[in-house]
Amino acid sequence: MMAWFRNRRSKANGSGEPAPDYAALREAMVEEQLVARGISDARVLEAMRAVPRHVFVPDELMPLAYTDQPLPVGEGQTISQPYMVAVMTEALELAGDERVLEVGTGSGYQAAVLARLAREVFTIEHREALARAAIERLVRLGISNVHVRIGDGTLGWPEQAPFDAIVVTAAAPRIPPPLLEQLVEGGRLVIPVGDEHQQELWQVRKHGAQISTRVVNYCRFVPLRGQYGWPEAGNQ
Ligand code: SAH
Repeated sequence: MMAWFRNRRSKANGSGEPAPDYAALREAMVEEQLVARGISDARVLEAMRAVPRHVFVPDELMPLAYTDQPLPVGEGQTISQPYMVAVMTEALELAGDERVLEVGTGSGYQAAVLARLAREVFTIEHREALARAAIERLVRLGISNVHVRIGDGTLGWPEQAPFDAIVVTAAAPRIPPPLLEQLVEGGRLVIPVGDEHQQELWQVRKHGAQISTRVVNYCRFVPLRGQYGWPEAGNQ
């Protein structure tokens, strides 16, 4: 694992400049972007102190990995802003023993954070190249409790259901019904719902056939595609 980190660093710093102190940048990210803005779940903060976010971005963006913004990860998709990852993760209310479903693996970063906070993480990505790159990163980091599937995440993962918590990391026009069906009683679904420009981040809780919904934040995500997402447009 260490050899791989050294490799990545030297590639990103072929100029001969010293590698950035990623651990220090990560600590500053947690204090200035998360703690200062009210993220208070100690386990979430610990997980985000531990996961090397720079490993999940393209080499040329590694120096920007801990800045306060989303970053492109290829195919028109983005790794979410650190604060948004923290807000979504906190809203899942994980204690450690859960089985969690993520829709929209992207870079694999959020899955790696969830892996430290739950027992098993199941994550679905419909773009094969992104899924394969995410799998490679997770394997190299030695993370073994994340399971990646290529497919339409709006259908959930019926063979592994039910889930204690589900997070959708792309903007949905509405709640995909299969996700509610695959949630346990009392389970939490965290999902950005709105139009393609702006969404509310919802924390939905399942009570039998009823749900309760709380608006956690406002956000802007790339569109959710698939059967219960937005129709494909152009190369998106
Ligand atoms: N959680 C990611 C960021 C995800 S960006 C991270 O930590 O990096 C949203 C992702 O959702 C994109 O990779 C996009 O390809 C994916 N996506 C969009 N619609 C999807 C669908 N129906 N099923 C699975 N993945 C989908």
